[in-house]
Amino acid sequence: MSLPSPFHDPENDQLVSEKDSQRVSVLSEALPYIQRFTGRRVVVKYGGAAMVKEELREAVFRDLALLACVGVQPVVVHGGGPEINQWLSRLEIQPRFQDGLRITDAATMDVVEMVLVGRVNKQIVNGLNRVGGRAVGLAGSDGGLVQARTWGDGSHGLVGDVASVDPSVLSPLLENGYIPVISSVAPNAEGQAHNINADTVAGELAAALQAEKLILLTDTPGILRDRHDPASLIRQLTLAQARQLITDGVVEGGMTPKTECCIRALAQGVKAAHIVDGRVPHSLLLEVFTNAGIGTMVVGSPTRLQP
Ligand code: ADP
Ligand code: MG
Repeated sequence: MSLPSPFHDPENDQLVSEKDSQRVSVLSEALPYIQRFTGRRVVVKYGGAAMVKEELREAVFRDLALLACVGVQPVVVHGGGPEINQWLSRLEIQPRFQDGLRITDAATMDVVEMVLVGRVNKQIVNGLNRVGGRAVGLAGSDGGLVQARTWGDGSHGLVGDVASVDPSVLSPLLENGYIPVISSVAPNAEGQAHNINADTVAGELAAALQAEKLILLTDTPGILRDRHDPASLIRQLTLAQARQLITDGVVEGGMTPKTECCIRALAQGVKAAHIVDGRVPHSLLLEVFTNAGIGTMVVGSPTRLQP
């Protein structure tokens, strides 16, 4: 009787199983992509269903850990997801709105900061560590990473915009294989915490880091020409075309800060910005490790970058 061998699949009576050979050839096909992106920075805005659904969450963590494992330097920026609203209602803090936007008063900001920095950030860090990544959680104040300024005329309260970014705290982390996980809360010059749209923080960070890619995970296939028709996905856009979509009102609501931050990041030297469907398992790997990519890619000039 022969001993079971790792190279012998008794079911197929073949030396190497179909599954193993497929895995190895897929891995081999990834080589040019790994070579292209190793040592490069990829900023990922993590949000939407990919943050809520257990199996998607797990897939994102594994994708990020894999990227870090092959030498890509992912940086994660996250928003709050549904937890902020859950805690606001648990603490019976009444929401106030103006022009459809929440007014972030001091009591609301306390909850936003506690939930984002204290809970959501640590859940992501723990999730990444569980799958073998080495994650470190940060907020805007850590190492003076992000400074905020009050958004607009201040009528929405402690909602911030990015005033400046100093990414120097990230370099030693990235160079040593850590995955920084950054929550989108930052102090203004007076030290008052502000809540900033996580897309905006991701875009400015990508610019400051001169990232290879900015990837925004969301709950649509990308930018749609008709937002009610998933089949109307726009695969590729130049900066000028992206600006035009905002002017024409094709892009609106939550897609506006996404498109704007792609434009700003590209104008500041980021190579490509992607708006990607986080509901598709392993959308991150599909974006980085395939030539076609998924979702909408915004670029300075209209050709897809080759690996
Ligand atoms: P996230 O939680 O990922 O930040 P948002 O809800 O803020 O997502 O933004 C995405 C939303 O933007 C979509 O669900 C959609 O309702 C809206 N939207 C507006 N215009 C477009 C468009 N042209 N294509 C796709 N989505 C759009
Ligand atoms: Mg949004």
